[in-house]
Amino acid sequence: MSNLYQLFQACFEEHGAKVLLETERRAYTGAELDAAVAAYAAALAGLGLRAGERLAAQVEKSAENLLLYLACLRLGAVSLPLNTAYQPAEVAYFLGDAQPRILAAAPERRAALEAVAKQAGVRLVTLGAAGEGELAGLAAEAAARPHTAIAGRDDGDLAVICYTSGTTGRSKGAMITHGNLASNARTLVELWGFSADDTLLHALPLYHIHGLFVALHCAFLSGARTVLQARFAPAAVLERLPQCSVMMGVPTFYTRLLAEPALDAARCRNTRLFISGSAPLLADTFKAFEARTGKRILERYGMTETGMISSNPLHGERRAGTVGLPLPGVAVRITGEDGDPLPAGAAGMIELRGPNVFKGYWQMPEKTAAEFRAGGWFVTGDIGVRDTDGYLRIVGRAKDLIISGGLNIYPKEIEEVLDAQAGVLESAVFGLAHPDFGEAVAAAVIAQPGARLAEEDLLAGLRGELAGFKLPKKIWFLDELPRNAMSKVQKAVLRERYKDAFGGG
Ligand code: AMP
Repeated sequence: MSNLYQLFQACFEEHGAKVLLETERRAYTGAELDAAVAAYAAALAGLGLRAGERLAAQVEKSAENLLLYLACLRLGAVSLPLNTAYQPAEVAYFLGDAQPRILAAAPERRAALEAVAKQAGVRLVTLGAAGEGELAGLAAEAAARPHTAIAGRDDGDLAVICYTSGTTGRSKGAMITHGNLASNARTLVELWGFSADDTLLHALPLYHIHGLFVALHCAFLSGARTVLQARFAPAAVLERLPQCSVMMGVPTFYTRLLAEPALDAARCRNTRLFISGSAPLLADTFKAFEARTGKRILERYGMTETGMISSNPLHGERRAGTVGLPLPGVAVRITGEDGDPLPAGAAGMIELRGPNVFKGYWQMPEKTAAEFRAGGWFVTGDIGVRDTDGYLRIVGRAKDLIISGGLNIYPKEIEEVLDAQAGVLESAVFGLAHPDFGEAVAAAVIAQPGARLAEEDLLAGLRGELAGFKLPKKIWFLDELPRNAMSKVQKAVLRERYKDAFGGG
């Protein structure tokens, strides 16, 4: 029997009188957290939610949202955290696909979601970030008769279905088990030196693995205190940073913090660890952050289907532009187009296996089979290189690979050269259909504040460093790159926007 919640409960009990969770509205000691989870579990059980059944949640970031997740674990039910930006038509797809018993949604969404919930035969209950809504009311009533039992679960039983953001095709539900989450969390606590002395500044969303699993599970296993901020706001982060020993963020957090004059070494004095992931951290950001604060950001790499895969070390060299070394217990290899492992220094597909690798895509056995190789290796879709001393670098996504005139081009290589040009803040290189070359290289470039850039000058700078076939055939100058909430550049948006630039395919 190994329900993940048992691990958390042991920690909540050990730190029964200590504040483990703090929001803008209230604080919870370990004992209060466990009691609140038991009340929510009773409320959900009262609504008929049973072990193995699913609950979809489209709730704003809050303690309530978190209690709902923990209550599902406690009941052995499977939660589906949904991005709060999803529109009713998108929610309808998730409901139809996952067939949850309950949809918990913010009260202000009730009117918009009623029809889709009804059509899918799903019970809609409201839960608001300020502790309002039907579910909060039911939990308050249930506090007198809490559901204290913890459902027995095996390592292979589902804990969560996380829908991947999927920029192409239909979003896939990654089935993540209790064993996946427990193994990854234990490894990270050890690797990053989490303890009850830590205070975690949490400004990430709760509908993605970064904020929900990586950050919170480390805290809930170690007895660290979590300061839960409703959203990332640089001023609020800077205000609390002096009382926080760890912060986790996406790269955009760090670039936005760097834009604040108040970010300095004194303010970061008590923060032992700044962690970045979910999207590539520019080497420039790493350097600028170190120059300003004296802290070297620790970059790590992971994905929904696998949890964390690699990390720069806590002690030892944190190498800018790399995602560090494979986690203990996780085997990583780089393979060529034929699926055979490649030697150090060669770019190829990143594959891995380990207890962190998910169980497959919900009701998509063919898609699942297509992404695993014999021996249980999961094919990430990321292209990477391992240095001779084991550090992993991500060169790009396989689906972003550009094939122009039959030649393979990795956008990252061109982006690095572009980013190094005077006046360039950042860039995104992508392929567009081209009648002659099949695909043509195109780029979107963001200038540094005040810099004036011209396409011809940039191309002149690239010419000495890149083969002619890699040079962008067109450069667009934008104010900012399209990014999703996890800071990932949405190249699909750029490809769509400029798809006819060369007359299409
Ligand atoms: P998600 O499933 O939304 O967490 O997205 C996973 C993808 O994010 C990975 O497959 C990578 O392409 C990307 N990713 C995550 N961490 C990093 C990182 N540190 N550097 C570059 N890409 C990253």
